[in-house]
Amino acid sequence: MRKKVVAGNWKMNKNLNEAIQLVSELKNELSNFEPNCEVIVCPPFTNLESVNTIIKDSKIHLGAQNMYFEDSGAFTGEISADMLLSVGVEYVIVGHSERRAIFKETDEVINLKLKQAFKKDLKPILCVGETLEQRESGEMKSVIKSQVTGALKEIPASDISKMILAYEPVWAIGTGKTATPEQAQEVHKFIRELISELYDETTAENLTIQYGGSVKPANAASLLSQPDIDGALVGGACLQAQSFVEIIKSA
Ligand code: PEP
Repeated sequence: MRKKVVAGNWKMNKNLNEAIQLVSELKNELSNFEPNCEVIVCPPFTNLESVNTIIKDSKIHLGAQNMYFEDSGAFTGEISADMLLSVGVEYVIVGHSERRAIFKETDEVINLKLKQAFKKDLKPILCVGETLEQRESGEMKSVIKSQVTGALKEIPASDISKMILAYEPVWAIGTGKTATPEQAQEVHKFIRELISELYDETTAENLTIQYGGSVKPANAASLLSQPDIDGALVGGACLQAQSFVEIIKSA
């Protein structure tokens, strides 16, 4: 049985006080029931330490939104894996479409970040997804294939079992447009078959593949009931404890 995982990507939102308030509310809500999935929060770097103090001894796991692939040194503005580990981070989002589009991260850079995460025992959440233009021109599968193969170059099957993959169609992120459960399922199945070709069937069957792109309480259950959708990576709807909890309950 694959593990279902619901993760909240806070993006560049919440100052320290707001972060403490949100995660305290979330912790409180989650103490009222036993979630049927793993729950991860990915606040901005400046909130990681305080959030970690609050969620210690709770059901919530801590993730970061990015990291650099070098160990340390003259990389002004960057954050290393060791720095993340030192404040209790367990997961790290790698290759989010905003990093790809705005900060020009390539598959080569994403591959280096994944290798660094595995080397340091951080669990990556690798994001892949096509733009609307790519989908409409029939390139969706080739784009996904090249993002997955590029990111996973020279990464062994033993590491794949430690990571999460997130399918996030770019046209559905922060737009309010969600892929239909059938559209999302088609791509998730395609990704699982691709992992099976690149590695083996067991590795593919055990891989948690989240869907991300305008997941909300109203659409979470239908997306999460698809056979190859193993959770959600949530942006906007994770910024309020109540809506994030409703998505967790749907899982
Ligand atoms: C995301 O940023 O990963 C995301 C899916 O955002 P949203 O839920 O706001 O579309």
